[in-house]
Amino acid sequence: MTCDDTPNDEQHGELRDGCPALEIDLDAIAANWRLLREKHARKHCAAVIKADGYGLGAARIAPVLQDAGCREFFVAHAEEGAALRPVLGDGARIFILNGFNVAARDIYAESSLIPVLNTIAEIADFIACGGRDCIVHFDTGMTRLGLDPAQTDALLARKDWLGRLNILYWMSHLACADTPDHPLNAKQLGTFRALLARLPEAPATLANSSGIFLGPDYHFDLLRPGYALYGGNPVPGQDNPMRRVVDLQARVLQIHDIDTAKTVGYGATRGVSGGQRIATAAIGYADGYMRSLSNAGYGYFKGNILPVTGRISMDLTTFDVTDLPEGAIVPGDRIELIGAHVSVDQVAAAAGTIGYEILTRLGKRCHRIYRQG
Ligand SMILES: *Cc1c(COP(=O)(O)O)cnc(C)c1O
Repeated sequence: MTCDDTPNDEQHGELRDGCPALEIDLDAIAANWRLLREKHARKHCAAVIKADGYGLGAARIAPVLQDAGCREFFVAHAEEGAALRPVLGDGARIFILNGFNVAARDIYAESSLIPVLNTIAEIADFIACGGRDCIVHFDTGMTRLGLDPAQTDALLARKDWLGRLNILYWMSHLACADTPDHPLNAKQLGTFRALLARLPEAPATLANSSGIFLGPDYHFDLLRPGYALYGGNPVPGQDNPMRRVVDLQARVLQIHDIDTAKTVGYGATRGVSGGQRIATAAIGYADGYMRSLSNAGYGYFKGNILPVTGRISMDLTTFDVTDLPEGAIVPGDRIELIGAHVSVDQVAAAAGTIGYEILTRLGKRCHRIYRQG
């Protein structure tokens, strides 16, 4: 295949040693957030930056989104929220998806964190601790977190509780938003609407990244995208409407010109024969390049797709570079593992997982290089 050349060395000047280079385009994240916000009739869009911004660095991403106009941020844990408060200052709302835990009450208070209350017990604890601002989450069909129908009835029976809480949003979460034809989408939407009709008036929020693309019926008063901000495709099977955010490159350490038949890597899982060439690059499963990509993943270099050949090791991966002219790839060159020619979603498909897991595993050992301006 013929493709554009890989980026030139100048753009990678920060890469000084052999560790894999993870480039994160902060401008693209901001552009993705704006694109998603535009889909909402009243331009109300939050950002989900849990798990350290899907592994890409919440402390760097949050201020960029704030500059773009984002005022509402979701993380999973109170500790994650507390780490973001000094970064975001007082002007931002920080919501904690995993609920309220009495043991962490001081963290909530000190950092002005707002819990997403998922059970009646959490609501009771939160009120007992003097809490007011919150989101209440209803399970409309995912069976993961949120009040079930019996707990919803219990909440509706407690007029005193409802009077003491300041409900910023009624919330639910979609189980199958990335599969638009799945009947559970419409079912959850119907259940959520029926709930809202019974509950006291307050804004509502339902849609994650893929949910946004199910259409305005799913938008309510706030969008809650995560994955699409980071360049993941929220509409699997269709062209990705998001801008690419991540580039992952690994440095070639050695080229093997194969003269006689032999095997490559641990377990001798792949044979090679005379005339083939193998490049060994400095990335492995310890960097988040998942072992399930063994004999399944592929990189890209100068117009060529390079299949992963043999098992992925902790720190090293071997690629078949036979299709490249001799001398076209040498030690010191960098193979693209995620980028303009290999998407996060393609890597995930080859690894038998989803792009969310690929992103959140990209290791601390990678050099993180942030692009902005
Ligand atoms: C993670 C999460 C999101 C964001 O989902 P994406 O698919 O990454 O857009 C939204 N809402 C809840 C409750 C979540 O847990």
